Amino acid sequence: MIRLAPSWVLPVEPAGTVLDEHSIVIDGERIVSVSPHDEAARSHPDAQVVELPDRVVMPGLVNTHTHAAMTLLRGFADDLPLLEWLENRIWPTEARWVDEHFVREGTLVACHEMLRGGTTTFNDMYFYPGEAVRSAVQAGMRVVAGILYVAAPTRYATDEQESIERGIAAADEWSNVPGVTFMLAPHSTYAASVASWERAGDLAVELGVGIHTHLNETWGEVERHLAQHRRPSVQWLADHGALSPTFLAAHAVHMDSHDIAVAAEFGVCVSHCPSSNLKLASGFAKVQQMLDAGLTVGIGTDGAASNNRLDMFQEIRTAALLAKAVARDGAAVDAHTALRMATLDGARALGLDDLVGSIRPGKQADLIAVNLSSDDAVPRYDVASHLVYVCGRGDVTDVWVAGRQVVQDSVCRTVPAEEIRQRAAEWRDRMAPA
Ligand SMILES: [Zn+2]
Repeated sequence: MIRLAPSWVLPVEPAGTVLDEHSIVIDGERIVSVSPHDEAARSHPDAQVVELPDRVVMPGLVNTHTHAAMTLLRGFADDLPLLEWLENRIWPTEARWVDEHFVREGTLVACHEMLRGGTTTFNDMYFYPGEAVRSAVQAGMRVVAGILYVAAPTRYATDEQESIERGIAAADEWSNVPGVTFMLAPHSTYAASVASWERAGDLAVELGVGIHTHLNETWGEVERHLAQHRRPSVQWLADHGALSPTFLAAHAVHMDSHDIAVAAEFGVCVSHCPSSNLKLASGFAKVQQMLDAGLTVGIGTDGAASNNRLDMFQEIRTAALLAKAVARDGAAVDAHTALRMATLDGARALGLDDLVGSIRPGKQADLIAVNLSSDDAVPRYDVASHLVYVCGRGDVTDVWVAGRQVVQDSVCRTVPAEEIRQRAAEWRDRMAPA
């Protein structure tokens, strides 16, 4: 048994709470209790005590949309319009280089970065999902892997059906491993076939998984969909039986009031990716309006090729800032809301909120400790405000996933830094334009 003794606990549930001088007792992978230090010491005298002065312990961050292996393409092509970036730079490079090794090694590099930055769960969408899972398990991270498919042939699969079958085989292979779940991941309404969308809802139910897809990321995509299908994409998905509370729409940038109302009616969840939307000039998601309509909105980094960081602290801050400008309301997405989006709401969007996303007895001990004593963080009036507007990922000192400490004193214990440096350099040398 372990007793974490930080200066503060931000449990996310109950909402808006910060507990002073409270301990979190962990037994194996689970949280046993959250109580004042002296009470916890009396109840669990034999627990090993981890003193965390000047630290706040909060739930591990949940990255609800990424393409982890694309970390190997970090900074590979920047400052380009989206289509030119995708069609001329990213897709040809992926077609040439992406194989099992790329995914395994790229995902390992991503896990190292995410864990050190306080992310304990990620929702991935990429080729060779079984290889991504292998690296996540090695790193000790919780992963939701995508059964990715697109209509066009790729190096990964000759057609959509083969892609789906490979994904399902990977899901079967990893079905008994704790911390690993899958979602059906048609790339988007435009890249997966109409026939596949017609049966996506049924297939997801049959497999017992949710659906994760890119939706309404760019204005051009929205216009093309309308021209081709004579209906807005959200309504079109509803008509095909794809929408449900386990449907996760990544980006959801261009959502008008009708789109939001339909999404709310079906209980759809959203992964808001503010940095990626800014960098690719995709637009500004109406986050506060979606929250007001009752949508569950988590936060994602997207891949490192379009961010270029897998830094959830930066996304939390950007989400809180951007939402205010978009809503023209300084009260939009306040600090506690932004932190809930990055934890409990993200977990809910991935169907994991029974397990993680808040600090409650019985839940998995996915926890992070953040240092609030930096000289750049004085004075301090409000812990939640500091976490959102002042702190960065460099302030994360310790990380536990299911009770296992994976980062200690800012060093990742599961993935050696030398290994990821070497792997990344090898891929750079291979892929760098001559
Ligand atoms: Zn994406």
